Amino acid sequence: MELKKCPKCKKHYNEYPAISRADDCTPICPICGETEALSQYVNYSVTLRADRLTELEKAIRKKVVKMHLDFSKIRKQQMREQNAERSRMGQKMKKLYESS
Ligand SMILES: [Zn+2]
Repeated sequence: MELKKCPKCKKHYNEYPAISRADDCTPICPICGETEALSQYVNYSVTLRADRLTELEKAIRKKVVKMHLDFSKIRKQQMREQNAERSRMGQKMKKLYESS
C-alpha cells in the first residue's frame, strides 16, 4: 500500500485508513481513528476535526502510540519464548530419535 499523509496528525502511514468521525468521509491514519474513538468515549460531546488534533486528542494519541509499542514489545517477547520452546522441543525429539 502506498504512503499516505494523515490530515489530522500530519504523519505518514501505509496501513488501511480509518474514516474520521468528524465528517464521516476523510481518511485518517488508524492511530488517529483510535484516538477519535477514545476521545468520544472520554467526552461524548467533544467536537472532532478531520484536519487537526484537539488538545485532548494529542494527549490520548500519545497514549495510543505507547500502548501499540508496548503491545509489539510483548508480542516480540512471546515470539522469542515460543521459538526457544520450539527449539528445546526439537532438541528433545532429536535425542529421542537418536537413542532409539
Ligand atoms: Zn493521524
